[in-house]
Amino acid sequence: MPCPFLGSMNQGFVRNYGSVLLKQYGNLCPILSRGFRSLGVDETKCPFIQDNSIVSEAPREMTEDIKESVPTYQYDKFFSEQINAKKKDYSYRVFRKVSRLAAEGMYPQALEGPEHRRVTVWCANDYLGASRHRAVQDAAVSAIRAYGTGAGGTRNIAGNSQMTEKLEAEIAKLHKKPAALIFSSCFVANDATLSTLAKIMPGCIVYSDAGNHASMIQGIRNSRAPKHIFRHNDPNHLRELLSASPAGVPKLVVFETVHSMSGAICPLEEMCNIAHEYGALTFVDEVHAVGLYGKHGAGIAEERGLEHHIDIVSGTLGKAFGNVGGYIAGSSLLVDTIRSLAPGFIFTTALPPPTLAGSLAAIRLLASEEGRSMRAKHQGIVRYLKLSLLIAGLPQMPSVSHIVPVPITGADKVALVAESLMKRGHYVQAINYPTVARGEERLRFAPGPHHTPEMIDSLVTALIESFHENNIRFDQFMVNGACRECSMEYKVDIAYEEPYKYTMIAA
Ligand code: PLP
Repeated sequence: MPCPFLGSMNQGFVRNYGSVLLKQYGNLCPILSRGFRSLGVDETKCPFIQDNSIVSEAPREMTEDIKESVPTYQYDKFFSEQINAKKKDYSYRVFRKVSRLAAEGMYPQALEGPEHRRVTVWCANDYLGASRHRAVQDAAVSAIRAYGTGAGGTRNIAGNSQMTEKLEAEIAKLHKKPAALIFSSCFVANDATLSTLAKIMPGCIVYSDAGNHASMIQGIRNSRAPKHIFRHNDPNHLRELLSASPAGVPKLVVFETVHSMSGAICPLEEMCNIAHEYGALTFVDEVHAVGLYGKHGAGIAEERGLEHHIDIVSGTLGKAFGNVGGYIAGSSLLVDTIRSLAPGFIFTTALPPPTLAGSLAAIRLLASEEGRSMRAKHQGIVRYLKLSLLIAGLPQMPSVSHIVPVPITGADKVALVAESLMKRGHYVQAINYPTVARGEERLRFAPGPHHTPEMIDSLVTALIESFHENNIRFDQFMVNGACRECSMEYKVDIAYEEPYKYTMIAA
C-alpha cells in the first residue's frame, strides 16, 4: 500500500528531501518505526492517519488493487512552450479591444482600450458599413422581437424557419444558381463542402490555388483526397497539372476571386475554362467580392458576366453583408448532396433570426440602387487612398481591388508601426504569420464609403510619422503637400459618380 502521507506530497519533493522526511517523521510511521524500534526508538502511530478522520488503514485485500501512481504528462509545460515559441517569433496574437460604433455619424469610429479612446478603424471587413445601416439593423431588431435571439437547434430539429429558406432563395437568386445552402460561417461552408465533396466522389483529385484561404485548405485536407497545388492565379500552371490528370475521374478546381491579403483578382474566365476543358468542377470563393462587385453585388463573376462559369460559389454574410454566416450556391442536386451529407452543416445550431433577417436585408440593400451608389463611393475612396500613398512615396502592394496592403517586412516592425498608428488615432491590425508567409508582413487597409478624404489625409500623415518613428525608410518625395523636387502641389480629387471597373489603378 503506498504511504498516504508521502503519497499526498509532490513526488519531486519526496525524492529530493527523503532523508529529511525520514529523520523528522520516520519514528511516527507504524511501518518504518519497526526498524527504529530495533534501534531503541519508540513506535508511534502515523500522524497522517491519526489527524485525518477520513483516512484509515485499508485491509490488505484492498491495497492489492491499488496501482502505483503513474507520472502524468506536463500539460502546462507543453502549452507554455507553444505560447513562448509564438512570442519569440512575434506571431503571438494580442487582440485589441476595439468596439466599433454604429450610431449615425460615428462610423467608422471605434472606442479603443479600457479608456474608450476614439480611433478610426481601417481594417474591418464590414466593407460598406452594412452592419450599421438602418434597414439592416431594423430587420435584425424586428426579427428578435418576433422570433427571439436563437434558432433553437439544428436545421433538422428546430432551426429551419421560413426566414432560413427565404435567405437561401435570395442567395441563389443573387448568384443566378438554382439553390443555396447557409452555414454558420464561410469557414465552415468551405471546409464542410470541400471535405464532403472530395471525400464522397470516388477517386476525386483536387487542384488548389497556392494562395487559398485556410478554410479551403482545411476542407481539402479533411477530405484526404489527393491534391495538386497550382501557383497563385496561374492558369498555365493549372493547365499543366490538369493535362497530366487521368480522364474520367472527378476533379475539383478551387480558388478565390479577390485575394483576401493582397487584393489580387484571379483570371476567372481563363481558370474556369481550363477547369472545364479537363472535366473539373469549379469551386470559387467570392468572400471578399460579394456585396462589392457586380451590378447587384454578387461579386466578380457578376461584374464580368461569368456566373455560369462557376459550378459552386461560396460567400460570406459576415463581411460586406455586415452579419455572420456563410453559404454555397450551385445546382440543386449538389446543394442537396451537401445538405444531406456534410457533418459541418448537419450537426450544428442554425443561424439565429436576427442574423437571417439582417443578412436578407443587407443582400437586398446591396442589390439596390443605394447599394450601387455605396459601391461607387467605396471605389472612389479606395482610389483616393491608393493615390495618396503613391504621392506620399509610401509603399503599397499592387492591388487591383478594394484591399490596400502596405508591406512592412518583419513581424516586429509591422507591429511597431501599427502601434504608432494607434497612438495617433488610427486602428489597423498588423498582418503576420500564419495569415501571410513570414517575410510578407503588411498592414492591410480596407477603406469604406464612410471614410472621408480628410480621414485619409490624416492617416497618410500618421503613416509617414510612424515610419519615421520606427526608422523604416521609404522614398518620401512629397514635402508639405508639394513635390520635393519641383514644389508643385499635389491634390487628389475623388469622383464618386465615375463608373468603376475592377481593374482600377495598379498602384
Ligand atoms: N474565405 C476567405 C477568402 C476568407 O478570407 C475568409 C475569412 O476571412 C473566409 C473564407 C471565411 O469566412 P467567414 O469569416 O465567414 O468564416
